[in-house]
Amino acid sequence: MFLLIFGTRRYVYQLLTTMLVCNFCRNPAAHVLRRFTTRFTLFFVPLFPVSTSHQLQCALCGATSHLSKDQAQQLVDSQAPRQPGWVHQPR
Ligand SMILES: [Zn+2]
Repeated sequence: MFLLIFGTRRYVYQLLTTMLVCNFCRNPAAHVLRRFTTRFTLFFVPLFPVSTSHQLQCALCGATSHLSKDQAQQLVDSQAPRQPGWVHQPR
């Protein structure tokens, strides 16, 4: 007998931590941006994402707000470390 085992599995990625003024407690506090991805699994092997959501959580009051994919990407882009230019040092 052939048994097909499939389901979904949720993954959480912490994308970044940044200082923002909280919309809820109005304090400047660390905020954690997380991405939740639900993946379709077949025989417990994750195959492809079914849904993705982004959530920003204030570390001070714990309030969470949902971000769109674009908002999350903007935040990631704005926090990306500047690429250090190559410094050519004379030997
Ligand atoms: Zn807060």
